[in-house]
Amino acid sequence: MSQSSEFQALVLDKSDDGKVASTIKTLSDADLPEGDVVVRVSHSTLNYKDGLVLNGLGGLVRTYPHVPGIDFAGTVEQSSHPDYKEGDAVVLTGWRVGEAHWGGYAQKARVKGDWLVKLPEGLSPKRAMAIGTAGFTAMLAVLALEKHGASADGGPVLVTGATGGVGSVATAILGKLGYEVDAVTGKAESADYLKSLGATTIIPRGDLAEPVTKPLLKERWQGCVDAVGGQMLANVLPQMKYRGSVAAVGLAGGNKLETTVVPFLLRGVNLLGIDSVMCPKPERGEAWTRLTSDLPMDKLDAMIHDATLKDLPDLGTRILKGGVQGRVVVDVNA
Ligand code: NDP
Repeated sequence: MSQSSEFQALVLDKSDDGKVASTIKTLSDADLPEGDVVVRVSHSTLNYKDGLVLNGLGGLVRTYPHVPGIDFAGTVEQSSHPDYKEGDAVVLTGWRVGEAHWGGYAQKARVKGDWLVKLPEGLSPKRAMAIGTAGFTAMLAVLALEKHGASADGGPVLVTGATGGVGSVATAILGKLGYEVDAVTGKAESADYLKSLGATTIIPRGDLAEPVTKPLLKERWQGCVDAVGGQMLANVLPQMKYRGSVAAVGLAGGNKLETTVVPFLLRGVNLLGIDSVMCPKPERGEAWTRLTSDLPMDKLDAMIHDATLKDLPDLGTRILKGGVQGRVVVDVNA
């Protein structure tokens, strides 16, 4: 089948004064970076990291012009990789695509086939992008808590940054699995949204914002999916139950952690690092399979905000201020 070589992409350029700005441009296949699979992208999404890239922050992009978008889903158009053939539905998250390599804010992407995952049976590209890196990471966090002993009858699990992408998906998964979910949010008006996803109790962000003075406090949570880091993580650790685990996912509230080792030594608390970017392939497969069984699709649909390439500069700024609820899905052909 002959395919058009021209396609639209959101391209970032850096000016001499260091400012990064985006334009929608027409590119051709010859502009694409090297790789063994060309994907006709249908959908992408917006993660916190995309917000950083769109705003030229965090030192994530070294070379301009650059096509951002850390996730995409679509259909294979050309492949010399043994695992993929024309017409295969695929999804990509991580591997520094959208940062060190061109990403999914375009109608086409050329990447290494080793980075792709076949779209799980029954999952549409739109829903795969509603999940995206944020949802995939939420699943990795829940898997890590389970591997360290979490169970639905073991007491409440805390989710921080609950209305965000990671937090929303973590709340929905844990709720479906029967956990009691305490959801921390700075958005009081989103309590109903969080309860509809599966939260049992809403905790105002301010309750966990002030520095605690004691190394141990009353035991409250058997597990935590933490998208916030900083002071909030420091406040959560002394309140974990004996042998409880915190899956450290994000830094929306800061990357410094000032704490004591006492919760680790006296309560056997586990601090589990979660990385979705270089996550090995077998774990990726496990997470995508579990997402199809343990993430209620009606709840996922309720998190979606539809967007186009044109909307991304504004959304990229909003997500850095904690102003995006749930998951943005970008139809790159709209
Ligand atoms: P979102 O912006 O969608 O969610 C972050 C949420 O954190 C916000 O919605 C807000 O929720 C809360 N928040 C924002 N600012 C603050 C603050 N100053 N103090 C306390 N809470 C705050 O981002 P994502 O869900 O996409 O990502 C969350 C974090 O996880 C980011 O730091 C991201 O970089 C990281 N991440 C890490 C991955 C990994 O592989 N380790 C993969 C994916 C993301 P509310 O208003 O409800 O409190």
